[in-house]
Amino acid sequence: MKALVYHGPGQRALDDMPKPEIRSATDAIVRITRTTICGTDLHIMKGDVPTVTDGRILGHEGVGIIEQVGANVSNFLVGEHVLISCISSCGRCANCKKGMYSHCENGGGWILGNLIDGTQAEYVRIPFADNSLYPIPAGADEEALVMLSDILPTGFECGVLNGQLKPGDTLAIIGAGPIGLAALLTAQFYSPAEIIMVDNDDNRLKVAKSFGATQVINNGLGNAAEKIMALTGNRGVDVAIEAIGIPESFDICQTIVAAGGHIANVGGHGKPVQLNLDRLWAQNITLTTRLVDTVTTPMLLKTVTAGKLQPKQLITHHFTLDQMMQAYDTFGNASSELALKVMITNQND
Ligand SMILES: [Zn+2]
Ligand SMILES: [Zn+2]
Repeated sequence: MKALVYHGPGQRALDDMPKPEIRSATDAIVRITRTTICGTDLHIMKGDVPTVTDGRILGHEGVGIIEQVGANVSNFLVGEHVLISCISSCGRCANCKKGMYSHCENGGGWILGNLIDGTQAEYVRIPFADNSLYPIPAGADEEALVMLSDILPTGFECGVLNGQLKPGDTLAIIGAGPIGLAALLTAQFYSPAEIIMVDNDDNRLKVAKSFGATQVINNGLGNAAEKIMALTGNRGVDVAIEAIGIPESFDICQTIVAAGGHIANVGGHGKPVQLNLDRLWAQNITLTTRLVDTVTTPMLLKTVTAGKLQPKQLITHHFTLDQMMQAYDTFGNASSELALKVMITNQND
């Protein structure tokens, strides 16, 4: 089968790889119909994720059709359409019982396209299939649902839920990439009064405005925090969502958080940040971190199927699996290509 394979920093190829086989009775083999590329895959390509080794098939998002199930898979039958979660989980260990699937103690968590072969291929092996796949309702738009493998639950769980967003709140989202935009879309479940989006890319800010942002700020001059304080009458924001993962964006969050407010970190950080507790210790703030657990996927599936949430707006480019190398080039130059999410269709579909 064809698959996008990582061969060390900066090296990738569309290789012929053996088709995956069932290894455990709880596995399923899924024939991928649609997949996408995540910002995390670009981090991997830079060599920033040392757990990913030479020869790994990348990808942790996608939808497909069950090709084969292990003897202990009871929720799915061959031929069923399924959504693949970026998090695989046993559903039975102590952490899974708490809904913390990302920290599954039986070898689950973010393993797809990381510790095991991923979804940017014709077929993928999904461990713990019963708890790691979701049935796709008949007639649902598969392209829209690819956005539910990772970015929508990530923006919602790590940003909106952890930020404890309430009706009438003033919200700022730092970073208008796919994850920040996913937070923007799902934040509107709670009717915040103001949604301020910050980015350095005018195209992304334009998209943010069309997705419901009430104010957009280009931080090209590095003065976003000042502008937000001015916009809020020096009060700051109730919820600040950090959706980039660099010290500068965290710093904006800690500068603009109002007394009693929440900083919800979503971005994956590669460097330490300075936490200004000398100012914040008396400000009654909450700072949260989280890896997505995908526990809200069933709820998000319903909202997308019902048309309340329209994540398809995030898809800007279409490719076939044969064009995977080109898809990476486009997504890797997102700013000049005006790319958000790229949709990859398996040509056999
Ligand atoms: Zn991802
Ligand atoms: Zn578990």
